[in-house]
Amino acid sequence: MLYIVPTPIGNLRDITLRALDVLQTADVILCEDTRRTQQLLTHFQISKPLVRYNENDDRSVARCLDALKSGKNCALVSDCGTPCISDPGWKLVQEAVKADIPVTSLPGPSALACALAGAGLTGGAFTFLGFLPRKPGKAAKLLRQAAQLNHPVVVYESPYRVLKMLELIGKTLGATIPVVAARELSKVYEEYVRGTAAEVAQQLAKRPKVQGEFVLILDCFDYTAPQKEDETNEDL
Ligand code: SAM
Repeated sequence: MLYIVPTPIGNLRDITLRALDVLQTADVILCEDTRRTQQLLTHFQISKPLVRYNENDDRSVARCLDALKSGKNCALVSDCGTPCISDPGWKLVQEAVKADIPVTSLPGPSALACALAGAGLTGGAFTFLGFLPRKPGKAAKLLRQAAQLNHPVVVYESPYRVLKMLELIGKTLGATIPVVAARELSKVYEEYVRGTAAEVAQQLAKRPKVQGEFVLILDCFDYTAPQKEDETNEDL
């Protein structure tokens, strides 16, 4: 059996009782970074063999799949939050499904759901783009396509690139597009910075250093794509 086990995105008390049960009873824990996962296990006084799962290495995927095929109960974790959400895991899940190995995904922490709920935009549809591509042209194209759906658009970003990303969002969707920057969720310095893309960028830029992990939620309800001249007379 393959268990997908979410782990805290900051506050260790956010681990679920079921996640602890699975980590305690699994034969082996598959993880992104053994040192990081070891710290988590030590905190919860769990002692288990750890195997590094490297999604970019076919041999690593095959080794983990072999463990599952041999009947082992494997718990898959990532460094934080839910595996497979902008994190490794999906290849192993795919292979396990192909091999008829039962897969179960535990509910639990994810920066995506946490930030979206705290943003307070809507409880309906949204578009999650994860980490946008590094190339500004590709990122802008994805942003435009997503914004046209008029749902909240959610992106993950690091502290090193968040100002650049806000600049790109402003240039692409207009500097007045409303943005919520959810920072350091569940941690001591958790905050939601709200305003237009330009205002949020300004607020962050004023700080001596931009720190912490970010989720950006863009309010695209009122977004209208600039109409190209040759499209104005197109039949619908
Ligand atoms: N799998 C994780 C999840 O379920 O949320 C996401 C892992 S992804 C590699 C890491 C990104 O998630 C960070 O760059 C940031 O955008 C977001 N993130 C993770 N923890 C966060 C936190 N405590 N506060 C805000 N964003 C966070």
